[in-house]
Amino acid sequence: MSSVTESDVIVVGGGGAGLAAAWQAAQLGRTVILLEKNPATGGSTSWSVGSVTATDTPHQHRNGIKDSADAHFEDMALHAGALAPRDNLVLRRLLVDNTPGMLRWLMDLGVVFVGPEPEPPHRVPRMHNVVPNSKSFAYNLTRHCHRLGVDVRVNTVTRNIIVENGRVTGVEATLPDGSNHQFRARKGVVLASGDYSGASDLKARLASPSVVPVDPVNPTATGDGHRMALRIGATVVNGDIVRGPIMRFIPPTRQNLIQRLPPVKPLAQLIAWSMNHLPQWILRPFLMSFLTTALGPSPDIYKEGGILINKNGERFTDELGKPNVDIANQPDRTGWILFDSAVANKFSAWPYFISTAPGVAYAYLADYRRNRADIFHESNTVQGLAASMGVPADSLQKSLAAYNEGERGQRPPIQQGPFFALGPVKSYVVFTDGGLRVTEKLEVVKEDGSIIPGLYAAGSAGQGGLLLEGHGHHLGWAFISGRIAGRNAASAG
Ligand SMILES: Cc1cc2nc3c(=O)[nH]c(=O)nc-3n(C[C@H](O)[C@H](O)[C@H](O)COP(=O)(O)OP(=O)(O)OC[C@H]3O[C@@H](n4cnc5c(N)ncnc54)[C@H](O)[C@@H]3O)c2cc1C
Repeated sequence: MSSVTESDVIVVGGGGAGLAAAWQAAQLGRTVILLEKNPATGGSTSWSVGSVTATDTPHQHRNGIKDSADAHFEDMALHAGALAPRDNLVLRRLLVDNTPGMLRWLMDLGVVFVGPEPEPPHRVPRMHNVVPNSKSFAYNLTRHCHRLGVDVRVNTVTRNIIVENGRVTGVEATLPDGSNHQFRARKGVVLASGDYSGASDLKARLASPSVVPVDPVNPTATGDGHRMALRIGATVVNGDIVRGPIMRFIPPTRQNLIQRLPPVKPLAQLIAWSMNHLPQWILRPFLMSFLTTALGPSPDIYKEGGILINKNGERFTDELGKPNVDIANQPDRTGWILFDSAVANKFSAWPYFISTAPGVAYAYLADYRRNRADIFHESNTVQGLAASMGVPADSLQKSLAAYNEGERGQRPPIQQGPFFALGPVKSYVVFTDGGLRVTEKLEVVKEDGSIIPGLYAAGSAGQGGLLLEGHGHHLGWAFISGRIAGRNAASAG
């Protein structure tokens, strides 16, 4: 027999959606327990770049930008493109109507944004970026949840949803000591357990076998909430829509001093001020060192003459074809982007950037040399480069010779030292877009359209067929849907 704890609301998952739900329910005076399986809150929310797309914001007002939820609603369809007919328009409306309040709420809790940046086809700049980095969301939300008395339990893995007489009344979880425990909810349970980018079974069942071997950015995004809800009759909408496989440099393996600084408001405000007042040459080195996430190399590097090399020193793909798919079949599923000084010189200034990057917008080779020494390799000789990359030199020599002598189309040979490599680079599923079918109140719905009483879902778990193409919509949805689910769970029963 497992032991039992009771509260009004139980929230499963402590990412953006779960923390928002817990905050909202506690703010309404309910007792709330939040169960987080990892040692700390954050989830994919803390892996994110931190772009939040919103309208009618103080940042837009300061810049004289006139915007509206209606315009945002229309522009989201343009981002969705051919997928647009598959969108959930009710949830899209919910999202766009609530972004102004969402951004202000986050700012009131201590989150600092810069921007807005343009992101066509949005008709006006709407993309706001968090500083110093996306860890600020969980840091500030968790702090405020504690203040409101939310009982945040980390290292606590939810395993099952308890259903009694057709109503969800709680969950079963494994406590840090390995024992089983029941958490009973007098009002409601909110599933905010993220996506299934790291779950082979759900990727095979809902998405496509081709993405099964592709690693997730966040390995703990294992779709637990989806699986638990499917077991009690819920359904997943748009399960096949997946962001990836897409190439990204591996994220920084060690945190530098700057990344270890807590994302407190005065620090964030200082950075935001500096970005508006100091020249880029002072700021650049500093801003990129806050980076904690995985950035994607621009495909232009291949067009201009970069090639992909695997751990055996072999070229394994047509870089202009589908390298993102082929890399997943290489040893350790990794590769390096290799080029010579001609390409290196090009990728030192606009319009030839290595990747986009928060804060600096476009990162060039010098930014990588300075801020990502762990993935930056340079040598006057091919042998020296091979040693730095950790690949066999003779094999790398042969691969380069074969490339230079073979059919290269418009691409130049790789012959002019010094030689450079960036990597490891991998192919990732960044996130999955399939969410449990939900109502406008974020109640979870069965295949036959009937509501599962007592169960709510938010964020990626409760995406409900909503398309969040472009940047900054996923985080917005996590915070907005989390608050709505928290409010409705608090007043249920
Ligand atoms: C590299 C990267 C960059 C991104 N950049 C952006 C961006 O700039 N803008 C944007 O809008 N979106 C971005 N996204 C997407 C965005 O981060 C996510 O869609 C969003 O954070 C999802 O929030 P969530 O609360 O639903 O899930 P999460 O933040 O993943 O939270 C889910 C939580 O539930 C916990 N959990 C799961 N299962 C259990 C269980 N069984 N028991 C207890 N706890 C459990 C997890 O550990 C996790 O903490 C990015 C994603 C990635 C990976």
